[in-house]
Amino acid sequence: MDKKRVYTFGNGQAEGKAGMKNLLGGKGANLAEMNLIGIPVPPGFTITTDVCTEYNELGREKVVQLLQKEVITAIESVEFLMKSKFGDVETPLLVSVRSGARASMPGMMDTILNLGLNDEVVEGLIRKTGNARFAWDSYRRFVQMYGDVVLGMKPTNKDDIDPFEAIIEEVKHAKGVKLDNELKVEDLKELVQKFKKTVKVKTGKDFPTNAYEQLWGAICAVFNSWTNERAILYRKMEGIPYEWGTAVNVQAMVFGNMGDSSATGVCFSRDAGTGEDLFNGEYLINAQGEDVVAGIRTPQQITKIGSQRWAELAGVSEEERVAKFPSMEEIMPEIYQELDELQTKLENHYKDMQDMEFTVQEGKLWFLQTRNGKRTGAAMVKIAMDLFRQGVIDEKTALMRVEPNKLDELLHPIFDKEALTQAKVLTRGLPASPGAATGQIVFFADDASEWAAAKKAVIMVRIETSPEDLAGMAVAEGILTARGGMTSHAAVVARGMGKCCVSGAGALRIDYKARTVEIDGVLLKEGDYISLNGSTGEVYLGEVETKEAELSDDFAELMKLADKYTRLQVRTNADTPHDAMVARNFGAVGIGLCRTEHMFFEGEKIKAMREMILAENIEERRIALAKILPYQQEDFKGIFKAMEGLPVTVRLLDPPLHEFVPHDLKGQEEMAEAMGVSLKYIQERVESLCEHNPMLGHRGCRLGNTYPEITEMQTRAILGAALALKKEGVVTHPEIMVPLTGILREYKEQDNVIRAEAAKLFAEVGDSIDFTVGTMIEIPRAALTADRIASAAEFFSFGTNDLTQMTFGYSRDDVASFLPIYLEKKILEVDPFQVLDQKGVGQLIQMATEKGRAIRPELKCGICGEHGGEPSSVKFCHRVGLNYVSCSPFRVPIARLSAAQAALED
Ligand code: ADP
Ligand code: MG
Ligand code: MG
Repeated sequence: MDKKRVYTFGNGQAEGKAGMKNLLGGKGANLAEMNLIGIPVPPGFTITTDVCTEYNELGREKVVQLLQKEVITAIESVEFLMKSKFGDVETPLLVSVRSGARASMPGMMDTILNLGLNDEVVEGLIRKTGNARFAWDSYRRFVQMYGDVVLGMKPTNKDDIDPFEAIIEEVKHAKGVKLDNELKVEDLKELVQKFKKTVKVKTGKDFPTNAYEQLWGAICAVFNSWTNERAILYRKMEGIPYEWGTAVNVQAMVFGNMGDSSATGVCFSRDAGTGEDLFNGEYLINAQGEDVVAGIRTPQQITKIGSQRWAELAGVSEEERVAKFPSMEEIMPEIYQELDELQTKLENHYKDMQDMEFTVQEGKLWFLQTRNGKRTGAAMVKIAMDLFRQGVIDEKTALMRVEPNKLDELLHPIFDKEALTQAKVLTRGLPASPGAATGQIVFFADDASEWAAAKKAVIMVRIETSPEDLAGMAVAEGILTARGGMTSHAAVVARGMGKCCVSGAGALRIDYKARTVEIDGVLLKEGDYISLNGSTGEVYLGEVETKEAELSDDFAELMKLADKYTRLQVRTNADTPHDAMVARNFGAVGIGLCRTEHMFFEGEKIKAMREMILAENIEERRIALAKILPYQQEDFKGIFKAMEGLPVTVRLLDPPLHEFVPHDLKGQEEMAEAMGVSLKYIQERVESLCEHNPMLGHRGCRLGNTYPEITEMQTRAILGAALALKKEGVVTHPEIMVPLTGILREYKEQDNVIRAEAAKLFAEVGDSIDFTVGTMIEIPRAALTADRIASAAEFFSFGTNDLTQMTFGYSRDDVASFLPIYLEKKILEVDPFQVLDQKGVGQLIQMATEKGRAIRPELKCGICGEHGGEPSSVKFCHRVGLNYVSCSPFRVPIARLSAAQAALED
């Protein structure tokens, strides 16, 4: 038998099911599943994602031929269930043609509604329904969508307006009406005629009247849309492979635009912004499909409580609310109840928060889509923990449900309360996606990208957003729209990105041409500062100060759960007591990397450091080092104290010395005077420190081996600090780390210096402290000879930044010149400086760990590069049996959760 390309669903039966997302796409698989569990869904069929691949390989003609028989048979079964006929004048079947990839790509692919209409069918539809307004409204929508999507009439340039929208505006203006739904039957008829004329002028062809011709056009357009620009951009952002393809869903139409007992809406089983366990959503009476999402009319709330909350934010009185903006719960109570029951049923079935689309046709409820809803990081944590407590999922599932990277959002700053009281509120919109954002106003995605590239913080201000704006939204600090509700494109996408968003701020008067926005009499230009509170919907004038986030109890509980399963420990990279405290509060159990170079920069210290470097001989160097010692000791005391009772790995001086000396004339003159030498001498010394390739030059333990007195001083400062704290009753666990080891011998030399100095110090003070000495493994040779190095070193810390640099031979400082091209061409899948290269660099880590432990079984191994906070890299570290990862303070929770997930995945 030939392979099956079409899967039907309808009337409680389906050939597919939820588990078939790869083949049927998310939408198609769930439409099938909903049928199977007794949710009312209009019948239809799904053309598989495989066919999309065939389409891209074989082309349109061949694929239409391959599909012909199956599609016609499937249409016939829909006709049977709907008691109507596709293309028939008296009992016409109309269908929608919808895309649906494996992963949800909201708004990425275009949907066509009301397909099957023409000049005769529309008359038949009127005779059948007795509703001329509905029939013509459906027809004009169809011609417009088909023209835009299938016939390619949608403008690609942001400054051009949609030809159909232009006609609508023109007709509305001529009739003196403001809203689309104020147009009369005659006006709608006129629109259709004008639309078709435009189609003829722009494409040179008549609008297709044959239903099957329309259908094939639409199916192929969905396949084409897989390769349109915005789909490509979305895939890139979300890491969705091109090969997956999209399915096509063809489904009998149900109509939300049949009058006042009809409606359409979008709803969520829980709050996607906060995670609150509260059914919510928006609907529009007498409207169709995209109207709610597109923000053409601002929709109303489905639940009474949602409606009341909205009214409070919008400053609408209860009286006015009931009269003008009633909830669905209040005006369609029976339908509401059914909707509420079915949303609960769906959530229980899928065991996760659902994002659903529905339509009410003359008092009958239909579901058109369900999927696991996108949500903010905060909502992700709350929903996972609530579902766990409610017994819907177990604790392991709860842990696996939270995307580690999403925790990042929770840790972001919020507005400082004090600063807020001083700030001027310009207006309020809907709290569409929580968070705090401050930035400069831009109106277009291109500008957002440009400004952001120039390191400016921008807020994107739009009447409403559409998928064309994605690139701009991705780089903006926040998004503010004049129209659209909580389920508008802006709101949904912003929540998915974890971006602050205020939508539907009706007071905004945006003038795209002038690049200005007027808010209640205040005129703001592009580049002016505003601030948004996505949790309350408030819009502030100017910049508002932010402060650190407050973490929820759910977050704490999630972290506790994580610790229950984790084997891999999480430490932090911290150079100051403040950073150490932040990380400790996030659950770090030590410092894996404390860099010491910053300790040489402030005030007097840099002078002493420069004296040391520029000194003519060892005696002078010692004098300068003696000046630095007390400062360093104080710095270490602060850090050790912040990390009381926990291990702290201190790395000895690592960067090339030229980074410390003055390269400007003024600084050089200063040093000459301070040291009582000639300017020429200073300049020569500075010159002599310059290297062709400093990354591979005089740095790391090469410094300590050429100037052992530096190592001596640092050892004394570290252990001196620990001894001083011991007197105060503070327990410390110093670990001294030698950087950039490549040869056993060079490590041993340093080890000797450290231990000798320690012995000397202990004898002087008459007290001692336990400490260990180990090394960074960041040169491939060190990894290759790890067994030899482990004979002397007590611990390994993989410096994956340098190890990546030296394994690939990519200079980290110069990689920007070719890395983007490599990523573009897929020569590299990801940036190896962000995501650990498991095949190459990872192999060195694994091998060095094994070799090291063969000699010294108790060898402690960890990593301390940027990768220590990247989920896939953390999971790798777990698998190869490292003891810990060390990452920047704000990545600690992410690493902890990743470590737990790695343990669960075992
Ligand atoms: P998207 O993936 O962009 O959400 P959809 O295919 O879900 O696109 O459809 C867009 C809109 O049209 C949605 O509001 C959906 O509910 C509505 N819709 C799709 N098919 C039908 C149909 N057969 N009857 C009524 N409304 C439909
Ligand atoms: Mg949809
Ligand atoms: Mg290094």
